Amino acid sequence: MGTDIEITPFADWLPVEGGPFIIAGPCSAESEHQVMETARQIAEIPMVKVFRSGIWKPRTRPGDFEGVGEKGLKWLKKVKNVYGLKTTVEIAEPKHVELALKYNIDMLWIGARTVVNPFSVQSLAEALQGVDIPILIKNPINPDLKLWVGAIERINAAGIDKIVAVHRGFHYFEKSPYRNAPMWEIPIELKRIAPSLPIIVDPSHISGKRELLQSVSQRAFDLEMDGLMIESHYDPGNAKTDASQQLAPKDLKEILENLIIREKKGDIDFEVKLEELRTEIDKIDGQLLQNLAQRMEIVDEIGEYKEQKGITILQMKRWAGIIEDRLSIGTHLGLNDTFLKNLLALMHKESLQRQTDIFNKAKNKRRKEARG
Ligand code: PEP
Ligand code: MN
Repeated sequence: MGTDIEITPFADWLPVEGGPFIIAGPCSAESEHQVMETARQIAEIPMVKVFRSGIWKPRTRPGDFEGVGEKGLKWLKKVKNVYGLKTTVEIAEPKHVELALKYNIDMLWIGARTVVNPFSVQSLAEALQGVDIPILIKNPINPDLKLWVGAIERINAAGIDKIVAVHRGFHYFEKSPYRNAPMWEIPIELKRIAPSLPIIVDPSHISGKRELLQSVSQRAFDLEMDGLMIESHYDPGNAKTDASQQLAPKDLKEILENLIIREKKGDIDFEVKLEELRTEIDKIDGQLLQNLAQRMEIVDEIGEYKEQKGITILQMKRWAGIIEDRLSIGTHLGLNDTFLKNLLALMHKESLQRQTDIFNKAKNKRRKEARG
């Protein structure tokens, strides 16, 4: 796939002095106090250049918190005046563009639910015709690179040449630790076909939970992405939307300070190949873990069976047979003998422990029943 996307170099309109481009702020504006207090704390983190906040929230079901609307724009204007941070909001309809411009919002972003619909993107492009404002374009919810590129092209064709792509992960049907699977090969491919287009990563919507934010953010920079859009709330536990993925500003600061940002090498082919191989490894590790869990379930079943029949846990002959058999298969497959012995010993130890727990539980239950 080729594209004629024409972008003004990032550094010409956003002086980040070669550092990463970091956007932070709450998922949603909830109250003036929440916006101002979050902004006050975020303004103390020098790496953060732009304050984000959703004003109109695309919600899955009607009746969920749908955002504060226009009054939130007044609070953002105040953030800019008081703390000197640039501001950004999500736009989904031409009316939102008009209002955001009225309140001098510095840049606008188009969300994942809007990017899936070319009619919506086209109506935004028309509303932006002749306006000089940076536009951030999130990937569509489904893993469709063409749809993402199409949205960027539509906005670019309206005369907008300050564009940043935002990678926020993709809906994925298989079980995964992420809220939205990162599928890094897709933003990497975008970088290959549009080298002048800056790409930042939204680790919040990829992770869905705070624990994954550090590693996803680090991965973004290891893959030479240009920055982050990350959700932060002064009281994340009580946030009205996305509470489990928002960070207190002090924790955001810590995550940003822990990042290791290396010089970019720009070797896309190498990155693509490496990413493909890493995706393979991730998949295999997932299968390994599932197999291990399944093995342990059967170990438990055997444990219960032995307990009912009054047979002891340790069956030396069976274990010696397993070692001999698995060592022979494993070494034929090219696995190291010592590694296999260690792995088998670990598995055996865990199996014995699980069966011992089952025996003890049954013993306690019997004791209780006898007593009572
Ligand atoms: C958001 O940034 O709060 C948001 C709604 O994100 P997305 O469009 O990526 O789901
Ligand atoms: Mn959110």
